[in-house]
Amino acid sequence: MADQTRLEAWWRASLERNEGEDHAMDTATYTQLVARFSIPLTTVELFLSRQPRLQLWTQGHLVHAVGMEHGRPMSCIALFPQQFQVLEEPPDDDDVDVRILWGPTGTSKSVVLIIKGHFLLRKGCGTVFVLQTSDDGAAAAYLVGHQVRETAGQGAGSVQLVNMAGVRVRSEEGKNKVQAWVEELFQHAQTHGRVHILADEAECDVIAEIYRALTKRHIRFTLWAAGVMLDVPADMERYVRYLTQPLRNPPAVVREVEQADDMKKGTVPAYTRPPVSAPCDGPPVLTVDHYDEYRGDRQGHEGLFTWRCARCGELVADMLRDLRVGCDDNAPHGQGGLTYSDVFVLGAMNCDTDITDDHLTSPAPFIRGLESRGVPTRKVAHNDTAAVRQLAEMTSGPTQRAAGRGRDEAVTVANQGTVWGLERHVVVYLDSVYDGVFGDGDANRTGRLRSMSRSTAQVIWVKVVRT
Ligand SMILES: [Zn+2]
Repeated sequence: MADQTRLEAWWRASLERNEGEDHAMDTATYTQLVARFSIPLTTVELFLSRQPRLQLWTQGHLVHAVGMEHGRPMSCIALFPQQFQVLEEPPDDDDVDVRILWGPTGTSKSVVLIIKGHFLLRKGCGTVFVLQTSDDGAAAAYLVGHQVRETAGQGAGSVQLVNMAGVRVRSEEGKNKVQAWVEELFQHAQTHGRVHILADEAECDVIAEIYRALTKRHIRFTLWAAGVMLDVPADMERYVRYLTQPLRNPPAVVREVEQADDMKKGTVPAYTRPPVSAPCDGPPVLTVDHYDEYRGDRQGHEGLFTWRCARCGELVADMLRDLRVGCDDNAPHGQGGLTYSDVFVLGAMNCDTDITDDHLTSPAPFIRGLESRGVPTRKVAHNDTAAVRQLAEMTSGPTQRAAGRGRDEAVTVANQGTVWGLERHVVVYLDSVYDGVFGDGDANRTGRLRSMSRSTAQVIWVKVVRT
């Protein structure tokens, strides 16, 4: 199948056999087949920071580890036509290469940014700036920066992280901050010819301010940004490209994410059907019932919120054990099975260090429940940049897993905003209580989109039940 001539001969023979009776065998299908099977036209090798992505989705056909290259573990990703078109389309103008990648969670926006960065470095651009524009964008910026740098293998200086989180471009201070950076970029462009910027989980007002300032200064630039919820200004609408085919989550998880309010309202673009069907539906979402205080018999449950309940922590620990997480004997194909670092415990709780264990927003009781059943945990505070960076850059490929087992292996417990942009095989979502009563916790308003969408395989939903 790797040979396009043979593929074409096979396609023609199939058409003749069918004599036009199968309407699915149209030109679009053929284009997709070519895009999928023609190597190396549509595959790209990326640094492997974790087990190959999308493995459940593709059963190894579209993504697979290709071994070591210059001491770095690499994976091979076959691109779908939608991604490929975005990467192949020439910029509108030689001097200005701008794209805004917009789509729901898990549609390979980050992967496309990483590939773009890799292409730029390979073409000799020298430095790629990776920009963080939102408070919740740190993990995504670290991930993109790390992947670009490791894929290109050109050393630490090839990628520069720039933090513009919290910049209010309507304020004088915000405008000045953008202006100062653009002046630095102007100097950079004087030496290097042009500047190249990537921004994942982008805030459009900051991106637009930078775009306008660069244009005004007549700097030649590349500016590729991506996001889930974007407020694209009119002068940038022509740069929007949609990535909408679900590639991270198996269908069982996609169906949950699709019920998020922001997806129903259309604030987030809808998913579209991927060009190849999923090999399986994925494991069904598991639920743990948290009996709230309005029940007569709470059966050992406590607290108002699910994260205030040690019993829920114990029940989740039992489920993780049933999933063979952290067990040495769980490797089906010698690849190494699920480890504790493959698990995120997420929700609207507060994991910051200034929150005491008895505070209403602290997940201390839930963590106590997990640990009482032998599950090691690591609580990550939102502003702990070292820990967030480690989560984003965590290496746990097959070889590293074997070496690293038992060391730093822990389930990550964090607010869902802290890990925005990352993914893990198992996501435990801790629901808040009732709509509107506390913060921004409930599943439809945030949990489905912010937490469950991080899962590449299994979602465990700790739910409040009342009657
Ligand atoms: Zn409970």
